[in-house]
Amino acid sequence: MRLEEIMSILENAKRIGRGVIRYGNVATYIPELAKADKNKLGICLYTIDGSRFETGNTDDRFTIQSISKVMALCLALDTFGSEIVFERVGVEPSGEAFNSLVELDNRSNRPFNPMINSGAITIASMLVSRYSIEDMQKYMQDVCEDPEIAMDEAVFQSEMETCARNKAIAYLLKSKNIIDSDVEDSVVFYTQMCAMSVTAKNLATFGLLLANDGIQISTGKRLITSQTVRLVLTIMLTCGMYDGSGEFALKTGIPTKSGVGGGLLSVAQNKMGIGIYGPSLDEKGNCIAGCELLGYISEALNLHIFNKAEWKEE
Ligand code: GLU
Repeated sequence: MRLEEIMSILENAKRIGRGVIRYGNVATYIPELAKADKNKLGICLYTIDGSRFETGNTDDRFTIQSISKVMALCLALDTFGSEIVFERVGVEPSGEAFNSLVELDNRSNRPFNPMINSGAITIASMLVSRYSIEDMQKYMQDVCEDPEIAMDEAVFQSEMETCARNKAIAYLLKSKNIIDSDVEDSVVFYTQMCAMSVTAKNLATFGLLLANDGIQISTGKRLITSQTVRLVLTIMLTCGMYDGSGEFALKTGIPTKSGVGGGLLSVAQNKMGIGIYGPSLDEKGNCIAGCELLGYISEALNLHIFNKAEWKEE
């Protein structure tokens, strides 16, 4: 496909996204997030053969929120191995909201998956036994190729003042012996990693790393093991969009993780990484413009993971 064609698909995508922004709202349950401008929209597509397509507010910084769960899972899998990680956290979609503790209490003795808060707080409790938040920040800087990534102190403080529910989840996890580390330390680590501030460009860079099997294209260095990339992308496809994951997977077929700061990280395997910023969220907490325009991009660029592919027997 010609570069101009892709650029015009991207401009169409922006128009499609803008068309639905008014139906969503910025997150308000973390008071600091309510200050975001809901009309912002930035989209970056970084392809495996080195092209970069960008439009809109791609340099705006926003807090990564739940997308940090993907980085935390990558680091945990590469540090502890999948057996140890999945002993504590399951891999099943929960069908509940991101901050639910109902299913954890009633249906299971393990968090359903690492993409919801109970699972991610468990992962954070494992990481905090081995790493400082500065190590985590450095990891994020490396995988996003941006040394400027830093914690947004105001968002961190704002969430710490309103995180009773996450603390409740963490204490419930402790009561079930799923967390070994100190509960408060685990919640602080989790909240700090969620408060790291990134751009749509950063998310596209990280997406491209995952699309390229964990090898950084600019240096040829492997940053994440191949096995971890496969596990993480599968979990993103099945659990990355909260209780909207199934419908989103049908529509786009692109493993994606959202965050309530308005970010979307999407990975079209062997093709491209996509980073989106749009703080107007739908009722499930996903970037409303991003979800709409990704459906279009997937169709236009043939990105659905289960699209018919050529297969030739040698
Ligand atoms: N820090 C946020 C929370 O725990 C992240 C939620 C999200 O992005 O889904 O509530």
